[in-house]
Amino acid sequence: MGSYNDMTGDVVGSGIETVTNRRDDAVRAAVEQGLLGPGSPIVGLLDVTGIRESAAALRAAFEEVTAPGTPVLHAFAVKATPLVPVLRLLREEGIGAEVASPGELALARAAGLRPEATVLDSPAKTPAELREALALGIAVNADNPQELDRIDALMSSATSRSPLGIRVNPQVGGGSIEATSTATATSKFGVALRDEGAREWVIQAYADRPWLTRLHAHTGSQGIPLSLMAQGVAETFALAEEINRRIGRRQIDTLDIGGGLPVNFASDATTPTYAQYARLLSEAVPGLFDGRYGLVTEFGRSLLAKHGTVVARVEYAKSAGGRPVAVTHAGVQVATRTVYMPGSWPLRIAAYDGKGRPKEGPAVVQDVAGPACFSGDLLAEGAALPLLEQGDFAAALDTGAYYFAHHYAYNSLARPGVYGFAPDGAGGVAFATVREPQSVEEIVAESGGAHAASLTALPMPKRR
Ligand SMILES: *Cc1c(COP(=O)(O)O)cnc(C)c1O
Repeated sequence: MGSYNDMTGDVVGSGIETVTNRRDDAVRAAVEQGLLGPGSPIVGLLDVTGIRESAAALRAAFEEVTAPGTPVLHAFAVKATPLVPVLRLLREEGIGAEVASPGELALARAAGLRPEATVLDSPAKTPAELREALALGIAVNADNPQELDRIDALMSSATSRSPLGIRVNPQVGGGSIEATSTATATSKFGVALRDEGAREWVIQAYADRPWLTRLHAHTGSQGIPLSLMAQGVAETFALAEEINRRIGRRQIDTLDIGGGLPVNFASDATTPTYAQYARLLSEAVPGLFDGRYGLVTEFGRSLLAKHGTVVARVEYAKSAGGRPVAVTHAGVQVATRTVYMPGSWPLRIAAYDGKGRPKEGPAVVQDVAGPACFSGDLLAEGAALPLLEQGDFAAALDTGAYYFAHHYAYNSLARPGVYGFAPDGAGGVAFATVREPQSVEEIVAESGGAHAASLTALPMPKRR
């Protein structure tokens, strides 16, 4: 067993081995208990122990660097894993929710999250969404001047307990993946701080509105170097200091530093750690942690990615052009980013035999394909693994965030069931249902099944 180090917030000891063992035990138990097999050829598995450990590591990392008594809210970015039982588990571990749509807000509420532990950040909030958030007392970060106008109108007609702020884009630059870089010069998010007149506009917006007490930036996600993230936080902190100085009071009392800690998809090691990031921030921006500001963080991928595994049965094993191809049930519907952009989002694949035991044998270069009807539907191309054979299982690792919880309905492939697992206390593995597999009846219903005759019933123009 790895043990938890209170001083550093790191999991030390044989942590990696533990993660791997837990996963191997879960795959075997899933086969033995019938969650996985010919009739249910794909499942998503979530390592509940690992999720709890990551949540604890996040909290410990910031406790280590903040002045005693500093209010800190870690709001999990719900978009990373939008599953109600996961949000409830995180709630139990002291983690709130960052939501960005009416659906995500509803998920957070269904999980029992309190308004004080919830932050709303979407770039396209409607007046109705803003009204609901302010009525509930949920924190809102205004994305742009037009949204602030709408909040002005709501604030003039009602009072609200919602902490309110503005999202800025520090424009510090992007990382290696364009689609997840949010602080480029032309990013669609927040007020672009280096644009002409923007900084003055932000300062005046706070001067005019004593109820604006927060400042928010999220510099980006996977692919952003830690130093760039820290630079984004430093610029946000400097702006808050400037605003408070210019207004002559400590109006901004909380900084929301966003999420974005990158995830290592190349091995089971968790790197970078929350402890490393918190230490880097405390060196780069010491004033942020001296107790004058409350803190909000919005980590998503780094909390869940390494705790999810999608496991799919090899339906057929074949060969094409001399290359072995394992045709599995996991493809574009559960690994959309990887299939469409394999260069940016490669996944590790682990091979298991038909009993769910890690497969032994020499590494063979092979393709691991999905079930969808286009030739690019590959989980991995040219992966070196023990040869996958019919009835084996292929597991795509590190898929707990932005993968099987983000179903893409290509080919009307069903959403797989998702199950959490933990040791059962008697040497085995216990599973809990997180999400039922989607049935074909549900697919028909969601695809207009109740309106089968609606188009043919429309008036028909006379054919000439
Ligand atoms: C997506 C997002 C996050 C989470 O990003 P991760 O890379 O998953 O940590 C946090 N804040 C905002 C505003 C986001 O859009």
